[in-house]
Amino acid sequence: MRVLIARPMTAEVEARARSEFDVEIRTNTSVMSRAEMLRALVEFDVVVPTLGDAFDAGVFSQVPEPRCKLLANFGVGYNHIDVGAAMAAGVEVTNTPGAVTDATADIAMTLMLMSARRAGEGERLVRSGQWQGWHPTQMLGLHLSGKHVGVVGMGRIGQAIARRCHFGFGMQVSYIARSAKQLDFEAHHAGDLSKMAAEVDVLVVAVPGGAETHHLIDAGILAAMKHSSHLINIARGEVVDETALIAALQTGQIAGAGLDVYEFEPKVPQALMDLDNVTLLPHLGTATEEVRSNMGHMALDNVAAFVAGQALPNSV
Ligand code: NAP
Repeated sequence: MRVLIARPMTAEVEARARSEFDVEIRTNTSVMSRAEMLRALVEFDVVVPTLGDAFDAGVFSQVPEPRCKLLANFGVGYNHIDVGAAMAAGVEVTNTPGAVTDATADIAMTLMLMSARRAGEGERLVRSGQWQGWHPTQMLGLHLSGKHVGVVGMGRIGQAIARRCHFGFGMQVSYIARSAKQLDFEAHHAGDLSKMAAEVDVLVVAVPGGAETHHLIDAGILAAMKHSSHLINIARGEVVDETALIAALQTGQIAGAGLDVYEFEPKVPQALMDLDNVTLLPHLGTATEEVRSNMGHMALDNVAAFVAGQALPNSV
């Protein structure tokens, strides 16, 4: 069984992969080219792809009978893979749910606090040497404790964010999901996204990417939000209409935004970089050694199950 891992991994994950499998580990940290994806489907039994490796219907149509029978995705989000086209070509798909949850929720909280309390802007002020000293009305932001958060997508990460908001910051929680959740804390299942957006102080996006959620947060939702409110996106860039968001930030329609992901990642529009009321992180959601190792082991557990002919632990 030949296994291709599409990016360098943490040392312990690479060591395990080399000890258990006949593995090739790509040394390039950028997304796979189309030619690389075609070679992967033809020459390997299992591929471990990740964010941005666009295994779309076109790729599968060029390799109708691939040698590869499993895409063991590294990451919970798999919107870069056309799962229907993969299945039709006889390729199963797995992901790494759970391993990413707490770390991604922590980055959502980082962005909420940075945006509400103007931390990025403040840090730039200090570094610029222009800071004149403390005074009672210097850089006033939004007090987060006790405010109302709206979580768009109350799955694993959405619930971890909501827990932090409720237990850590005494916040009121509302949420949107396709189904109501049984939770051990109070949270309101809102029926209408626009109505919820109008009521909250912070709107946090935690739905998967893909056709169903493309531009779920559009100009209409941003127009419904309070002028004092903040938008946080730790999900996928394309869930938010980036052009509409730039306009909302430029006109003061909303007070600020915190972004970990971008519509045309890794491209970040100059207009966003020019704005002081947006916090921009380089997709740091799961970026700790421990979490990336846990994700790697979870992906390799799926590979190992496949090699042993067992049921796959994390089929999507
Ligand atoms: P999950 O457990 O599957 O949760 C997704 C939630 O979104 C569920 O509550 C689901 O509703 C809801 N949802 C799905 N489609 C919807 C729609 N059309 N309208 C309204 N709600 C919808 O996934 P997760 O583990 O929390 O991960 C969420 C996403 O976060 C991933 O897909 C990934 O793209 C992103 N992510 C980002 C980072 C990062 O580094 N920034 C890291 C990890 C993950 P139901 O519960 O009713 O099904």
